[in-house]
Amino acid sequence: MNDLYARHRQVLPDWLALYYDEPLEITHGEGRHVWDAEGNRYLDFFGGILTTMTAHALPEVTKAVSEQAGRIIHSSTLYLNRPMVELAERVAHLSGIPDARVFFTTSGTEANDTALLLATTYRRTNTILAMRNSYHGRSFSAVGITGNKSWSPTALSPLQTLYVHGGVRTRGPYAELNDRDFVAACVEDLRDLLGHTRPPAALIAEPIQGVGGFTSPPDGLYAAFRKVLQEQGILWIADEVQTGWGRTGEHFWGWQAHGQSGPPDIVTFAKGIGNGMSIGGVIARSEIMNCLDSNSISTFGGTQITMAAGLANLSYLLDHDLQGNARRVGGLLIERLRCIAAQLPGVREVRGRGLMIGVELVKPGTDEADPKSASAVLESARENGLLIGKGGGHNTSALRIAPPLSLTVAEAEEGAAILEQALRSAY
Ligand code: PLP
Repeated sequence: MNDLYARHRQVLPDWLALYYDEPLEITHGEGRHVWDAEGNRYLDFFGGILTTMTAHALPEVTKAVSEQAGRIIHSSTLYLNRPMVELAERVAHLSGIPDARVFFTTSGTEANDTALLLATTYRRTNTILAMRNSYHGRSFSAVGITGNKSWSPTALSPLQTLYVHGGVRTRGPYAELNDRDFVAACVEDLRDLLGHTRPPAALIAEPIQGVGGFTSPPDGLYAAFRKVLQEQGILWIADEVQTGWGRTGEHFWGWQAHGQSGPPDIVTFAKGIGNGMSIGGVIARSEIMNCLDSNSISTFGGTQITMAAGLANLSYLLDHDLQGNARRVGGLLIERLRCIAAQLPGVREVRGRGLMIGVELVKPGTDEADPKSASAVLESARENGLLIGKGGGHNTSALRIAPPLSLTVAEAEEGAAILEQALRSAY
């Protein structure tokens, strides 16, 4: 055990997740690569958990941050703040939500917490619908709507949560259904649930489940859910913390894959917008956003230095059509991984969109999750210079691939070759 790891274990919580048998100390990055303290270079297919959206050490973002730091880092939202207003204008416009208001937070958790506060206040009930296998953060209210006990450290919650089917599809009776029948069965499940409860405040859902292993429901599921929700005035909160900003290639927001039923009532975001700077936020039409009647701030939410990073990062992302790049390069990568999967009985499914790709592993010849092989693949990929993620809860058997959206075709091929080797050595 190296010295830093020993000190880490002495002073940080045991439950703080840490990858690899010999944890890595990342010291710097450039483009799609990072380096560890021993000088080893890695192709980064996890982008700091989907936060490095454009590239590591992107000069445009570095320059904006250092120039802003030279002027002022933070003055609080008690004073007018030009970068915050400018980023809010851009985000409101991109959301497609009419008369949109934006509230900036410092994380995805705080964004979802705020969305829950808004929805429960607006609807005057603390009942929430959430998806099975979901993850929305680690605050008291966020763990209360997390649909997987591995990430939910307490059974207590300020909310009453009802879990809807539609998250995981690879196992159980729903696995045999085609897309249309799956959507119909999930809608039936939702109707049945609503028939047994007073109308909830909102349904919160990730368009593609992130920590849950990049599980994607069939297109149209949330449009079908929305019709049912609207009959009772129930709000729809789309948690775009992982799926926003073009990550899924075809669409700027993950919810757009579900049909043109109009934008959600509330959208939450975080991760990629700041390219690693801690920006989160909530977008809602003004009627919902303004239902709170107290003065409120998030001390570090909207702080100038993070807003400057967000503006520079968003400009780069849009000016260089990184969403289009995610669609093209992600499409090639998915195809390549599906070819590899076809030769390996332990690879149950390659799924996802754009540069958000999940690879589900099972014990060969069975339908059983294979967390041991998932860990072995992670270790082997790392040994050969590739960082990837994993997910899927206590049965962590899905590999997660989410590089910065500027990934080149050559880098995608290089990463796929390392992953192929790692998968072949595990199976
Ligand atoms: N929502 C989703 C979909 C997430 O994946 C995460 C984190 O992984 C969160 C919310 C919480 O975000 P944060 O870790 O920034 O608090």
